[in-house]
Amino acid sequence: MFRKILIANRGEIACRVITTARRLGIATVAVYSEADAGARHTRLADEAWPIGPAPARQSYLAGEKILEVARRSGAEAIHPGYGFLSENADFAAACAQAGIVFIGPPEAAIRAMGSKAESKALMERSGVPLVPGHHGEAQDMALLRAEAARIGYPVLIKASAGGGGKGMRVVESAGGLDEAIEGAKREALASFGDDRLLIEKYLTRPRHIEIQIFADTQGNTVSLFERDCSIQRRHQKVIEEAPAPGMDPARRQAMGEAAVAAARAVGYVGAGTVEFIAEGDGFYFMEMNTRLQVEHPVTEMVTGLDLVEWQLRVACGEALPVAEERLGIRGHAIEARVYAEDPARDFLPAVGRLAHLRQPAEVPGRVRVDTGVLEGDSITPNYDPMIAKLIVWGEDRAAAVRQLSAALAEYEVVGLTTNLGLLRAIAGNAAFAAAELDTGFIGRHAAELMPAEDAADPAIWAAAALTVVHDQRAAIEEAARATGDPYSPWAAVDAWRMNGDGYQDLRFRQGDAAVTLRTHPLPDGSFHLDLPGGRVQAAMLDDRLSLDGVSRRVRVVRRGEDLTVVMGGRNYTLTVEDPLAPPRSEAAGSDRVTAPVPGRVTRVLVKPGDRVAKNAPLVVIEAMKTEFTLRAPLEGTVETIRHQVEEMVEEGTELVTFAAAG
Ligand code: ADP
Ligand code: ADP
Ligand code: MG
Repeated sequence: MFRKILIANRGEIACRVITTARRLGIATVAVYSEADAGARHTRLADEAWPIGPAPARQSYLAGEKILEVARRSGAEAIHPGYGFLSENADFAAACAQAGIVFIGPPEAAIRAMGSKAESKALMERSGVPLVPGHHGEAQDMALLRAEAARIGYPVLIKASAGGGGKGMRVVESAGGLDEAIEGAKREALASFGDDRLLIEKYLTRPRHIEIQIFADTQGNTVSLFERDCSIQRRHQKVIEEAPAPGMDPARRQAMGEAAVAAARAVGYVGAGTVEFIAEGDGFYFMEMNTRLQVEHPVTEMVTGLDLVEWQLRVACGEALPVAEERLGIRGHAIEARVYAEDPARDFLPAVGRLAHLRQPAEVPGRVRVDTGVLEGDSITPNYDPMIAKLIVWGEDRAAAVRQLSAALAEYEVVGLTTNLGLLRAIAGNAAFAAAELDTGFIGRHAAELMPAEDAADPAIWAAAALTVVHDQRAAIEEAARATGDPYSPWAAVDAWRMNGDGYQDLRFRQGDAAVTLRTHPLPDGSFHLDLPGGRVQAAMLDDRLSLDGVSRRVRVVRRGEDLTVVMGGRNYTLTVEDPLAPPRSEAAGSDRVTAPVPGRVTRVLVKPGDRVAKNAPLVVIEAMKTEFTLRAPLEGTVETIRHQVEEMVEEGTELVTFAAAG
């Protein structure tokens, strides 16, 4: 076994690899960018080496720098995690050249599976079923048009070199094809330096089912069964589970054999995933990911294996630790990806500081939290917006779903927008409980899954009011200590009045609603609160709020006048109104074109003087694996372009100014 390895990644996956290495007695070397000094992965590793500025191209994608750290630190092998250099054949080759083991498949296997089109051609020859489509070399428009017509609409255009959903476009009918092809080519060229496309039949109600495979250098290749990853948004995974609901042994065996055949066809070694799209009884090869997958923990939970340990053993030349016949599935596991993003705004990635973070308690074998962040860390536009993964296990699917709901209710994240509300809604959804899974699930159930924040639960107001009163008390006590007379009547903090009923009014806003609460201190330290629903006796101790004797867990995080009440895994934001504060300035007018997130300008589609229609695309910015197209808010003439391609812009920066028509 290796004595020391380098982990060429960040975030949760770097931490996850370090955990296994440590268990096996292997020393670990982390690398970090300037944005990650002090990040969790740098603290967990035995050594942490700086590799450059925040942008990935200058740090986590800078293979030469990473190899140099490996040489200087004496690491014998490099684990690339997922993303970044994990599917970069040139990097795998450079490792071999430097005499350092790349913990992944051989260079040739990465290359063979690197292009969606070429890998499909290869699979076709190996007898693995494919979705009807065109994946040939020929790319001229006339041919693509003819192919799309032959396949039959709707069709899906993909970048051959693609990944992460980039360059993917659904085309409903022939009329939309030319524009979609041009757009996809542009995006593919910008993202991958390669504008070749493929076209597939777009299945309308498919499931994403993938097979985890493993191969060693001695010629053994096994299937570690399937994962269902059908709960997606933007064609990217949000919730994954194993086993796939409704999978019968015959189909499991057929898919496993197809996946093993795919791996053998490219001389595969190590961990890999063969992704299929399934509809009805059919299943079709989509692509192979030649790395450890984000959702590998659900396979670990149901097989009892540690896939990173297998990767390390195979990379050292050992045979697979368990033979095919002895592998089995126990119970059911579900993973939920916690993202910094706003489901209500088309899943726009969010950035910000994790002002408060409390994650569910881990229960060995049942609840696992894979995370790379600490309270106080920031989610920045430099890397992808995943905060953590919650993985749960139960004896059967119903038990796992229950466990998922319970663990999600323990999550407390304050400081940025997350998809936790959506995850909770899915976990509690009847169609999800009934395993009615397909890739359109989130879209179809959007109305139920994204309910408006419900306003006035008296507990929210009560928790906020008690927090403000407690804060005032602490401030006054502090002031009294500072003036040296804690017994001064002016330091009395309980609103007690000589003539009886002392009280204090507090005014809160929550969205459009406003409420004034009267608080009366009681001798035992609790309060009477006059809430919209009537009077209650309330007390708050640490993270428990008691109303008329019934207590529950609640957390209030206060930043200035803003309070976030976290209850049952949901966040409620309120503002306490200071009667002396100046009125807040109104939000910027809607006729401005501003960056919704910090990011990099990747395309400017107009020039000064252009007349544009309402909703015409103006500028494209990229942040966190996602492209955002900014459109004209109204018809008009472009006056100035404030930022050019490659410039980094802050959130809220005005990008284009123009004069309204007429
Ligand atoms: P999987 O197929 O394993 O579910 P994804 O398709 O979501 O994973 O992508 C794999 C991972 O690759 C992402 O979670 C992300 O961490 C990483 N990744 C991809 N592109 C980038 C990028 N441009 N910058 C940073 N990380 C990236
Ligand atoms: P990526 O490189 O982004 O992972 P994939 O080819 O794996 O791209 O596809 C990502 C997702 O897009 C799939 O999980 C599925 O939801 C959807 N998808 C891909 N191909 C098809 C298809 N032919 N019909 C319908 N949906 C598809
Ligand atoms: Mg994929």
